[in-house]
Amino acid sequence: MTNLSYEVFPPNSTVGNEHLCQTLATLKKLQPAFISVTCSSKTANLAQETVRIADKVQNDCHVPAIAHLPALYLSKDDVDSILAKLKVHNVNRVLVLRGDERPNLEKKNDFRHASDLVDYIHINYPEFKITGACYPEIHPESKNMVDEIAHLKLKVDAGCDQLITQLFLDNRNYYRFREICTIAGINVPIIAGIMPIINVRQATRILKTGSVTVPAKFQSILSKYKDKPVALKQAGIIYAIDQIVDLVTNDVAGIHLYTMNQAETTCQIHRNIGALFETKSA
Ligand code: FAD
Repeated sequence: MTNLSYEVFPPNSTVGNEHLCQTLATLKKLQPAFISVTCSSKTANLAQETVRIADKVQNDCHVPAIAHLPALYLSKDDVDSILAKLKVHNVNRVLVLRGDERPNLEKKNDFRHASDLVDYIHINYPEFKITGACYPEIHPESKNMVDEIAHLKLKVDAGCDQLITQLFLDNRNYYRFREICTIAGINVPIIAGIMPIINVRQATRILKTGSVTVPAKFQSILSKYKDKPVALKQAGIIYAIDQIVDLVTNDVAGIHLYTMNQAETTCQIHRNIGALFETKSA
């Protein structure tokens, strides 16, 4: 059966922290395969909060945690120190990313691409399981799918044991991408990252990136309910459920829900289709 997992982000306020604690207490009851914790390249001591929340997930919630690590903003010393802390907390999974280019943030220049950090961890810390990111509609900086897949293959061959996709709203893009990966010899599980779009602000942000195709069906939902927040939320949740049912039916390796730290939306999805998934943690 397929696995269900969640993504949360470290909050930047006391209120946000209390909210996340409640969210984690709820998510734990849904027995996910793992919970991943993002690492914002906006903050100075960037991995500290990621490590703290990953510890909470692993040791308070007893759910396997995956800590995100953005390569551009970490030196080898930073990585050594973060991995040492994760080991103390029994966290042995990381999601290695390059990180987005941010002009105001100092790059450390030890790792240029995510694959460089994958390689470093795989060689020096073989006890860590490494996940990588991938893009069914290609990364915005890639010239074409050929380059995208060539670089992805390098990253996987450097030591990733699974991939999680960028969000997508049209499952056909996932299926096409999965097929191309198979042809290219990328044989690790490709977990589908699904984000329920539940308000106009979120929808606008995603549309603005231009990197996610918005199918006519979703566009109609947005047009019809943009001024009706409750209806838009319900329709957005049902849209995500519809995507997930189709993906699971077509043997997706796993579903990773971008929760935005919102337990309620996640619970609604789980209530409707929880039986489709394997439960892992106690
Ligand atoms: P890479 O794999 O390095 O790829 C980035 C670009 O470089 C691609 O165009 C690729 O084709 C190209 N490339 C790769 N290798 C080479 C090479 N050898 N030569 C030339 N070109 C190459 N960001 C955060 O800051 N914090 C997070 O917690 C976070 N979590 C994420 C979780 C998921 C599931 C996803 C999908 C993204 C996340 N991101 C996060 C965003 C991510 O950091 C950005 O999308 C970033 O721009 C690319 O990261 P990557 O790891 O895919 O990079």
